[in-house]
This record gives sequence, C-alpha cells and structure tokens, in this order.
Amino acid sequence: MDIMVLIKQVPMSSDVGVDEETGVIKRESGDTKMNPYDLYALEAAFQTREKMGGTVSVLTMGPPQAEQVIREAFMMGADKGYLLTDRAFAGSDVLATSYALAQGIQSIGKFNLIICGKQTTDGDTAQVASECSEFLNIPCITNVTSIPEINNDSINVISDMGQTIETVKMLYPCMIAVDKEIYQPRLPSYRRKKLTLNQNITRLNLSNLDDKDNNQYGLDGSPTRVVKIFPPPVQDEKEIWNGESDQLADRLLNLLKDEKFYQGGI
Ligand SMILES: Cc1cc2nc3c(=O)[nH]c(=O)nc-3n(C[C@H](O)[C@H](O)[C@H](O)COP(=O)(O)OP(=O)(O)OC[C@H]3O[C@@H](n4cnc5c(N)ncnc54)[C@H](O)[C@@H]3O)c2cc1C
Repeated sequence: MDIMVLIKQVPMSSDVGVDEETGVIKRESGDTKMNPYDLYALEAAFQTREKMGGTVSVLTMGPPQAEQVIREAFMMGADKGYLLTDRAFAGSDVLATSYALAQGIQSIGKFNLIICGKQTTDGDTAQVASECSEFLNIPCITNVTSIPEINNDSINVISDMGQTIETVKMLYPCMIAVDKEIYQPRLPSYRRKKLTLNQNITRLNLSNLDDKDNNQYGLDGSPTRVVKIFPPPVQDEKEIWNGESDQLADRLLNLLKDEKFYQGGI
C-alpha cells in the first residue's frame, strides 16, 4: 500500500505577520510547527502501513524552511519526503494550492491512499482535500474519525458530518481528510531523529510538474483575494468599582442599558 500524506508548516501562534498589500501571510517570519491535524493524518498512515505494509511518503508545499516538517515526519516514521517549492507558488489561494499539490502528487507517482488533515490553523479553509482530489479525479471523504475496515482493494471509513455519521466504502485510489478522533499521534523518536538525520528530501519545483503554466499557480492562479486583513482591535481598558453590592448592581445595570446590551426592565 503506497500512502501519501499532505503536511503543512503553519505559524506557531496566531500572532503572524501579514503583507498588508497582498493579504498574504509572511511565512518566512516567526516560529513554525507542523499543522496539528497533520499529526493525525501521519498517524493514520502509520497505522495503515502497520496493517497493510507499504510506504508512507509526505509532501509539503511551502518555502524552503518547510523542510522542517518533513524532518519531523521522518522522526515519526515517514519513509520518503517531498518539498514542493517555487517562487511561482507564492500567494496561492486554496484553489492554486490544491492544484499545485495535485500536480506534485502526479509527478511523484501513484498512491493508493492520500491522507490530509481536516484543516489548517492558518488558512483554515478545510478545502484542500476536496479540491485536490477533484484535480486528481479520485473520490474523497472528509471528517474521517475512524477506519473500521481496510483491505487490498478498498477502505471503509466513518465520517462525522455534524448532523450525520456516514460509513463509506471507497476503492483505491482515494483521499481522506482525518479528524482528531482517528488515532492518538505518536511522538517523534530520538532514535529515528539520529537515523534520518541525512535522509534525502526530494525538492520539486514548477519545472517538475506536468502543467508548467505559471498562470495556474501563485497569485495569478488564485481567483480569490484577501481584500483587507487586520488583527481584531484589542479592548483592554479596565475600571474597578468599589461600593455596596446594591449600588454596584444598579450601576452595572445602567451601564448595560446605556451601552444597549440590555433593554428589558427589572
Ligand atoms: C493571510 C492569509 C491570506 C490568505 N488569503 C487567501 C485568499 O485570498 N483566498 C484563499 O482561497 N485562501 C487564502 N488563504 C489560504 C491559503 O492560501 C491557504 O494556506 C491555502 O489555500 C491552503 O489551504 P488551507 O491552509 O486552508 O488548508 P486546509 O484545506 O485547511 O488544509 C487541509 C489539509 O490540507 C493539507 N494542506 C494544506 N495546505 C498544504 C500545503 N501547503 N502543503 C501540503 N499540504 C497542505 C494538510 O493536510 C491540511 O491538514 C490565505 C491564508 C492566509 C493565512
């Protein structure tokens, strides 16, 4: 069973730099980590490999320093790592990202199962799995919470769609996006860190893809734009009132009325 896991490097905190002109996140600045949901995607891949045999590859699209998440995936147990990086991809929205990832997967080889996390903590669209699978022309199930059955031809998954819980059987090749209930991710191992220190990461760029048309990627290939992006204003003014509880309660009620938070009578 050949499994591909899509992993993404995301900012460590929500305090990230954003280019105010383009609305694009400044990924070269600040501390980063692997997108938390992708740890679950990796664990799902390892558990599947343990049952079915085969290999686990990982692919990330990002700047050169996104290699760090591939190294972390090696430390957890991934067999092969691919970094899709090119200036042409900068500023990609979710459609251009999904297209580039689909092109990347096709240039690497054939996979039975492609696993994504449910969503990221920066872009947060939860659309990459669905869009990427469309480009690859393979079925995709999102919000996967467990894999009750798997064999050489097909996989049964349970998908929690909020209002309904569905059990779905898919033939390979197919894609799933997993939720946190799926498995508990393993920790990176120090032994594997030493073993994989010099493990090769294959770099891919636009010239490695079938579709080399610049207009399909980056800002040019992105039909959506962030018009404006700004951090929400922080309201940190404080007032401390002292007095009798009855007076304080009246004062508070009047304030709530004045500010139009409360209009009823008592
Ligand atoms: C400041 C800012 C501005 C943005 N502007 C726009 C915009 O105008 N229009 C728009 O559509 N989007 C915009 N985005 C979203 C951005 O382009 C996304 O990072 C990108 O589209 C990927 O989608 P996502 O992060 O929402 O992934 P999701 O769909 O939430 O991720 C699901 C899964 O897909 C996989 N995945 C996602 N990205 C990658 C990757 N790069 N490499 C490997 N695997 C991956 C992972 O497994 C992940 O768990 C913006 C993001 C930011 C932070």
